[in-house]
Amino acid sequence: MYAWDTYTTTDFKIMQFLFPQYRRFYIRGKDEEGNLIFACKYVTEEGLCSVYDKRLKMCRNYPAKKINYPGKLHEGCGYKVEEKSFESYLKK
Ligand code: SF4
Repeated sequence: MYAWDTYTTTDFKIMQFLFPQYRRFYIRGKDEEGNLIFACKYVTEEGLCSVYDKRLKMCRNYPAKKINYPGKLHEGCGYKVEEKSFESYLKK
């Protein structure tokens, strides 16, 4: 999981302070651009959600059909991000 505007441990702690439901996440590393990569402590060794009935709204909605911020996926992910310009939305 990425947060495109969370670069430091302090940013991460502020995010968790503002959004207590995100305390389930921990920092797992950084990507090549310096963005923090998070993981959830509720993922089992089999890659399943151990709190499936109580998962966050963002988990229920994943994968979103539309996101209004830069999208990036891990290598090998089965999903893709198709970028659209503001002008393409105006043409619809
Ligand atoms: S679906 Fe479950 S394991 Fe995955 S991020 Fe959400 S709460 Fe964590």
